[in-house]
Amino acid sequence: MAGIYLHIPFCRHRCVYCDFFSSTDQSLRADYIKALCRELELRRPYLGRAKVDTIYVGGGTPSQLSVGELEQIFSYIYKVYKVSDGAEITLEANPDDLSDRYVADVRAVLPVNRISMGVQTFSDERLRLLRRRHNSAAAIRAVQRCRRAGIENISIDLIYGLPGETLDEWKSDLRCALSLHVPHLSAYHLTYEEGTPLWQMRAKGEVSEVSEETSVEMYARLVSMLEDAGYEHYEISNFCLPGMESRHNSSYWRRVPYLGCGAAAHSYDGVSRQWNVASVGRYIRGVMEGSMEVEREELDAATRYNDYVVTALRTSWGMSMPVVKKEFGLAFYEYCMRFARSYIERGLLELEGRVLRLTRKGVLLSDGVISDLLWVE
Ligand code: SF4
Repeated sequence: MAGIYLHIPFCRHRCVYCDFFSSTDQSLRADYIKALCRELELRRPYLGRAKVDTIYVGGGTPSQLSVGELEQIFSYIYKVYKVSDGAEITLEANPDDLSDRYVADVRAVLPVNRISMGVQTFSDERLRLLRRRHNSAAAIRAVQRCRRAGIENISIDLIYGLPGETLDEWKSDLRCALSLHVPHLSAYHLTYEEGTPLWQMRAKGEVSEVSEETSVEMYARLVSMLEDAGYEHYEISNFCLPGMESRHNSSYWRRVPYLGCGAAAHSYDGVSRQWNVASVGRYIRGVMEGSMEVEREELDAATRYNDYVVTALRTSWGMSMPVVKKEFGLAFYEYCMRFARSYIERGLLELEGRVLRLTRKGVLLSDGVISDLLWVE
């Protein structure tokens, strides 16, 4: 079992909070798609004989590509890889791009069976502040269009803790999200990333962060409202109706190998991580001239243990302690249990059978718990 991630590094314009690798210059788009197809071909051996169970087209804004351009990419994937029947195939989309025509063509031409939409908030005022292209009505229409076209597996992303946002406004966002009955929802606290316009706006006093107390209340409300509505809280920031978790993202958390193609895309094969150069021009040149710029990190036991703690503890399925002992060794197992013990006594972690996981109370304080369990030399 394996996954493929494709990075589409183009956006119509930049949102003020974003530090993802993407560019508004789309002049190299056609060359980029050729390079992406070439990379898919060149790197076929990376996944060995594993069948591809999930494909995720992320960005950037993949829905900036035409359906014809996406078709070109998918035809390469199907030509070169063995894709499982019933594979989960996700396209990230900006609500504004999802016109009736676009959605109908996606459905008719592409193997995509899941749409992940960056909604962020249903407040038009805050969407403008974030410099998002869409408004709340467009987001709601986009969800309805996907459904009408027969794409039921829809995920929406929300951001909370926006400048000036109150707990009541966040609750109203959540009510609006719940009224859409989407099977999957991800919600992230706004972060002020260095170098972004939002960072500058804060430095100039134009916006300010919500208080720590409000952030905690917002997260607690997120969890309680979604759980009351029947969603499973299967990862710290991710919720789904039963059986509808993101198979692709769950594979990352379950350490399933994946191939990442495109500028700045990361790949993982169980023993190493590697990532492509974060430049559209250099990426295209490297692939086409056979001299790809790639950085690689071999993962020693401590790094693999730390990755496991960070990913597995964020999920509802938790850490398997026999896996810790078997894959990383007794020293890591004992280290983990030594630090976990006090959290178990305080009710922040629980050991159920041989699975260690955060309790409901622990989820609210997850950063501190997780960092204490990390291996430090
Ligand atoms: S559309 Fe997405 S990737 Fe592009 S700038 Fe906005 S947040 Fe970043």
